[in-house]
Amino acid sequence: MDKLLRNAIDSIEIGVEDFQSNDERRALSAVRNVYAGVLLLCKAVLWRHSMDTDGSLIYTKVEPRKLPSGKIEWQPNKNKTVEVQDIKSRYKLLGLTLDWAKLDELSRHRNTIEHYYLSTPASAVKGVLANAMPLINTIMRDQLQTVPEHEFRTECWKVLLDNAEIQAEIARECEETFSKLEWPSTEVEFPIKHLACPGCGSGLIRQQDPDNTKPCEIEFACRSCGDDQFDSGDCMEAALDEEAAALFYIAMTDGGEPPLASCYECGRNTYIVDAGECVACDAAAPGDCLVCGEGINIHDYNPDHPGLCGYHANQAERAARD
Ligand SMILES: [Zn+2]
Ligand SMILES: [Zn+2]
Ligand SMILES: [Zn+2]
Repeated sequence: MDKLLRNAIDSIEIGVEDFQSNDERRALSAVRNVYAGVLLLCKAVLWRHSMDTDGSLIYTKVEPRKLPSGKIEWQPNKNKTVEVQDIKSRYKLLGLTLDWAKLDELSRHRNTIEHYYLSTPASAVKGVLANAMPLINTIMRDQLQTVPEHEFRTECWKVLLDNAEIQAEIARECEETFSKLEWPSTEVEFPIKHLACPGCGSGLIRQQDPDNTKPCEIEFACRSCGDDQFDSGDCMEAALDEEAAALFYIAMTDGGEPPLASCYECGRNTYIVDAGECVACDAAAPGDCLVCGEGINIHDYNPDHPGLCGYHANQAERAARD
């Protein structure tokens, strides 16, 4: 077996042992090890695809070296290996793909835990392990043609499976709490996949009142660390931003209106243009201009001059200055 694959499996197994140890101080180490293990799996894939070039796809830097004969030769610097961004671009080069959203989520989880937690809660580690599972499965089965349940120790694989199952069940329960929600937009979907706890980074977010139907009245809570006091509007804003990323990109490259606007009431980027309302506060469509009768465009709405379009608000301001 490749050395890289062996290292990847070792790293994940040690991470799982850290997770099982019940020693809080090892929680952060669990996250680091599992994350490192998943990246090593990706590197093992790149390695296999660069057998005849000395594994060069896993190195990011090529440097000149002087041979005894005096000739200069370019060789990879073996201390500099690929990071997440390089992995993505090299996978693309090879025509391979992976659930990048999951890998990004895993890396975001790791960063959140690394930066904000002195002691990482076990619940956060469970989320990281659950996110790693589909990646481990795809990479090992489809890209390395190995069978994870044979390569991992039985005990370790069982912990990973059981945990993934429990986390999926909790995710379903969280999703249920939004079933009555009346989402106003057809252009930007309810960003359920991108909701994340600001404290622990977990995506296991529920709505406190499952009977609530209004987006602006949602009160989120985290099923992972239990936090139910964080700002729901800010949480919505961050998730919407990711949900609408592709639409923003299209608006930027092909021209056209961005799907979200800054809300004139709460100031968050949670005003959904096609819905004509903010999903973090109760601001609604600013209506038609009192002077020209045109619909007021949210992108140039001026809260100092409600009832005027951008052009006439501008004129009113000039008139006041003169
Ligand atoms: Zn949390
Ligand atoms: Zn608002
Ligand atoms: Zn007007």
